[in-house]
Amino acid sequence: MITEEKKLESFHIWTVGCQMNVADSQRVDVGLKRLGLDEEKNIEDAGIVVLNTCVVRQSAEDTATGLLGKLGKQKKKNNTFICVTGCMVESTIKELEQRFPHVDLWAKPQDTSLIIENIADYLDLSSDGCLENLIPEKSKFAEFVPIVQGCDKFCTFCVIPYRRGRETSKPLNDVVNEVQNLSQNGTLEVTLLGQNVDSYGHDLFPKKDLSDLMYSISDLDNILRIRFLTSHPNDMSRKLIETIRDLPKVCKSINLPFQAGSNRILANMRRGYTRDQYLKKIEEIKSIVPDATITTDLIVGFPGETEKDFEDSLEILNLVKFDKVHVAAYSERKGTYAFRKIDDNLTQQEKRRRLNVVNELQDKIQFELNSKYLDSEQDVLVEGYIRNKLYGRTEGDKLVYIENADDSVIGKIQKTKIIEISSYSLIGAKI
Ligand code: SF4
Repeated sequence: MITEEKKLESFHIWTVGCQMNVADSQRVDVGLKRLGLDEEKNIEDAGIVVLNTCVVRQSAEDTATGLLGKLGKQKKKNNTFICVTGCMVESTIKELEQRFPHVDLWAKPQDTSLIIENIADYLDLSSDGCLENLIPEKSKFAEFVPIVQGCDKFCTFCVIPYRRGRETSKPLNDVVNEVQNLSQNGTLEVTLLGQNVDSYGHDLFPKKDLSDLMYSISDLDNILRIRFLTSHPNDMSRKLIETIRDLPKVCKSINLPFQAGSNRILANMRRGYTRDQYLKKIEEIKSIVPDATITTDLIVGFPGETEKDFEDSLEILNLVKFDKVHVAAYSERKGTYAFRKIDDNLTQQEKRRRLNVVNELQDKIQFELNSKYLDSEQDVLVEGYIRNKLYGRTEGDKLVYIENADDSVIGKIQKTKIIEISSYSLIGAKI
């Protein structure tokens, strides 16, 4: 039986969405533990609940609002403190405040200090010394580090610029210090995060860019790998591509969303490039960093997408042969230009069909690409276990399950021979 006191001083953080949210939640977790609170596995048993939300897909938003409804009942019974953060919290949240009056705190994304201070006040605790350097204390070997928040691009389907605001970069020295602290806690690999990470630093004074940051992080002895997510084709400069080639610690693995293969749809999405410009960027990457793995993001069923437009997207998949495709069926997001101005005219059934066609094609392409790894030797950073299997990633971000090894390889870069492949992962044996 859980006592009222135990309930009050325990917390549960519920997180959905992108790696940016995961990184924010980790920082809230550190702050709350510094206040002396215990993590509670079951949301129903926690005295403090933080929901870190995502609005990129309607389903994620629906899950969060459904949970908020249930938490209303929990609050009546246990007086649970409820905080909502993440992309659901925009500047105008009047409607949500009216709908969920039982929420104690609405905190904008990355308002970590505000969350910890409010919870400290609620529990009559002091937050002194709890807000500095909010990095995971027992960090994993591969960590995410947000470096630029928000986006200035305003693609017609996307809510991010409305919810996360304009691009705001963290000062370069702050990021380097954060990575240094992580490395002292055992982190070997960092992924630098931003909705549009390539635009890092244009708003800093003096101006900096992602290459400058990569050079500074590369100087840190204990950091062995640097990754970055997510890029925009218009902001991926030649300097950045050359930095990926020149810095041994920067992984030759690039995520470059194309979103649609037809010029008409790209224009309606306001992506700011044509298919030829996108393909030229891919050519540039392949000529400078020939061994780079390239992944992408694609939307199917954007309003007005004809069969021919869809085939244009399939053609890009066949031409580039991406190592992975994050594909989503278009779903309307309230507040976006597409929601207000463009009729969502394709049926769910048709969108699902296009999704399946992409997945089937990608399955084959990925199998073909992964076949090249068979019998090769790979350096795998071993991160831990998934479903009782040791796993890690190659420099090219291929997921590898390692057989014949024990816990002693966790947190190390392990030479591994690839003995089996599938479309989604590789199986290797420790050498
Ligand atoms: S670049 Fe990405 S985050 Fe920015 S508006 Fe477009 S889709 Fe959204």
